Amino acid sequence: MKRVDLLSLDAAQMEGLVRDLGWPRYRAAQLLQWIYQKRVRDFSGMTNLGKTDRERLERHAVIHRMDWTRHLTSSDGTEKFLFRLSDGQEIESVLIPGDEAGDPSADRRLTLCLSTQVGCTLDCRFCLTGTMGLIRNLKAHEIVDQVLELQRAGRRMTNFVMMGMGEPLANYNEVVEAIGRLTAPRMLALSPRRITVSTSGLVPQIHRLGKSGLKMNLAVSLNATTDAVRDRIMPEVNRLYPIKALMAACRGYHSATRRKLFFEYVLLSGVNDSGDDARRLTGLLRGIPSKVNLIPFNEFPDSPFRRPDDGVVLKFQKILMEAGITTFIRKSRGSDILAACGQLRTEAKPGDAPIIPIKTQAVKI
Ligand code: SAH
Ligand code: SF4
Repeated sequence: MKRVDLLSLDAAQMEGLVRDLGWPRYRAAQLLQWIYQKRVRDFSGMTNLGKTDRERLERHAVIHRMDWTRHLTSSDGTEKFLFRLSDGQEIESVLIPGDEAGDPSADRRLTLCLSTQVGCTLDCRFCLTGTMGLIRNLKAHEIVDQVLELQRAGRRMTNFVMMGMGEPLANYNEVVEAIGRLTAPRMLALSPRRITVSTSGLVPQIHRLGKSGLKMNLAVSLNATTDAVRDRIMPEVNRLYPIKALMAACRGYHSATRRKLFFEYVLLSGVNDSGDDARRLTGLLRGIPSKVNLIPFNEFPDSPFRRPDDGVVLKFQKILMEAGITTFIRKSRGSDILAACGQLRTEAKPGDAPIIPIKTQAVKI
């Protein structure tokens, strides 16, 4: 008989297992507490279960550990972990200490950048993950395990951003289930305000998320102010959902949730970093309470774009600030270990061809 991995079960399935074992219902809550709050990884640690019960559970269940096989530390304190999944695929998670300059809580802040897919559904031209194609979606527990394993290793994360490998909203159900487990009082009990989902702009899923009742933050990677430029740098997503449709979805999200939105804007030298772009951006955001994060392009080997000079970045920020939009410039963190935004990529394992082919044609800019 194949033993079930307890981490793969949601709360209802855990109750089902407990029922199948003929145990009282409160046992499910106990098991969830052992796994998510006390983070035990073997049954012998479950001390409020009798020896016979523990042995019985062990015959039916396992708790798989997701180990990391590599750990790199950047000169700026950023850490990158390469996790191996049960099928041998690998994903990266990044821990970033501190945050934007001027933030009073920056000292205590430790942000975990989580992956949601192996590779990515999309092919944004400025992103190394996009060159992998999509190998597969992560399961909810593989998203949550990145948090659990690092908590077990003693890291005290304060913020969680789904900005690692993958497009979270292309893996909607597992991402929503993962947010449920991260925030459920019986599981990780994190505040949803500390969790941010970042999307390249999948319009139907933004609508769905707006109606879901989930209270995490939403960040939208806008990255361009005209369809001509967005088609060039984010071809797949912008052809499906051009800027007008995307901005309408953002307005709808705000109306449904009354929440502020975050916009990410990667600055690519000579492509989307002009004063006119900044002014157009203020126009696009009119009427949507928002914060903007400017991310000067992080270069990677053979990348087809360049990072703008600091002066250009500051000028872009000034135009937005003068229009009343809170705008941060995201510092590049961990670029010496390829851990900065857009620099995450792992090797696909043999035999696992991407289900969406890798785009290899040269990029014209
Ligand atoms: N797929 C999601 C989340 C992962 S990408 C999304 O696109 O939003 C996380 C962020 O990194 C996005 O805002 C993306 O625009 C940005 N990014 C990707 N490649 C980058 C690069 N090379 N330099 C700077 N930012 C990059
Ligand atoms: Fe995927 Fe986001 Fe990278 Fe685009 S920027 S390829 S959506 S991970």
